[in-house]
Amino acid sequence: MIVSENYPWQSSIWQRLMLDKKRLPHALLLRGQSGIGKQAFAISLSQAMLCEKVNSAHQACGACPSCGWFEQDNHPDFRLISPEQDVSKDDEVGTKSTKKRTQIVIEQIRGLSDFLSLSSHKSDGVRIVLIHPAEGLNTAAANALLKMLEEPPPNVIFILVAHHAHKILPTIMSRCQKIDMPVPSTDDAHAWMRQEGIQSAEVLLSYAGGSPLMAIDEIEEGVLTSIQICKLLSFGAKSDVFQLSTACLALGMENAVSALQKWSYDLLLCHFTQEVRYHPSQEGVVKKLAQQIHLSQLLDFQKMLGDAKKSANHPLNNELQLERLFLHYTQIFK
Ligand SMILES: [Zn+2]
Repeated sequence: MIVSENYPWQSSIWQRLMLDKKRLPHALLLRGQSGIGKQAFAISLSQAMLCEKVNSAHQACGACPSCGWFEQDNHPDFRLISPEQDVSKDDEVGTKSTKKRTQIVIEQIRGLSDFLSLSSHKSDGVRIVLIHPAEGLNTAAANALLKMLEEPPPNVIFILVAHHAHKILPTIMSRCQKIDMPVPSTDDAHAWMRQEGIQSAEVLLSYAGGSPLMAIDEIEEGVLTSIQICKLLSFGAKSDVFQLSTACLALGMENAVSALQKWSYDLLLCHFTQEVRYHPSQEGVVKKLAQQIHLSQLLDFQKMLGDAKKSANHPLNNELQLERLFLHYTQIFK
């Protein structure tokens, strides 16, 4: 686990927590939208709490034995609980696929009891449990965690990270100190992205809803193809169903559906408010199309996209499904 420095927009929250480092509560909930660096923050916080020689900014030294264990993922006083990855298996058409689990299960929480009953390897040290994402706890796991939070073992800090905190059990929420993680201002995010060597920071950032780290992921996941798909969609009723389907298949069903959802979101938003969120560079086109929509048809289209998202893992149906989708898309417009 390599720890980067905190992101620039996190420095004041870091300082605030570190001022009171000795009196951190036994449970923290870091909440906020995806892609703003909450997980990285939680990891550097954990490493710094365990480090034997923090620097003047209270950041981990990266050189002591504790930092060494941490970076090799085997620190005896640290546990990371995340949804486990299923082993990859061959699906029916013979391609390798890895299904990502989204839930944290009770066995993972039960597995903590040994860890919690030990004392830190250092006589005055803390032990840390990092749970990410906390809304991934299924009901049984959440109840098991609640018991632990109700009778917190001494010198243990639970750090929960959540993109959708409202999905967390209220009884768990009430036992955590809640920290709203900052979203960078647009200017800060652009500056940081440019410093990372990213071209067209403006287009990517708005496409990612203001989350700079998500914008970076999207470069890898073919967001540029998504933007090309939007160009094809901008023909409205005259869009080429076949070209669109082909482009979407090339992008992969999941990313394609997500691109289509953003496009239809903007059509709907613009229809009612004259604003666009994800496609500011195509504002003119979106505005024009938004004036021509049959609302009920657009809502049906969004519902179809929701269904397509659920079945995105069944590659045999994708082509047919996409053609049906785009045929419907061309009928949205008057
Ligand atoms: Zn250290």
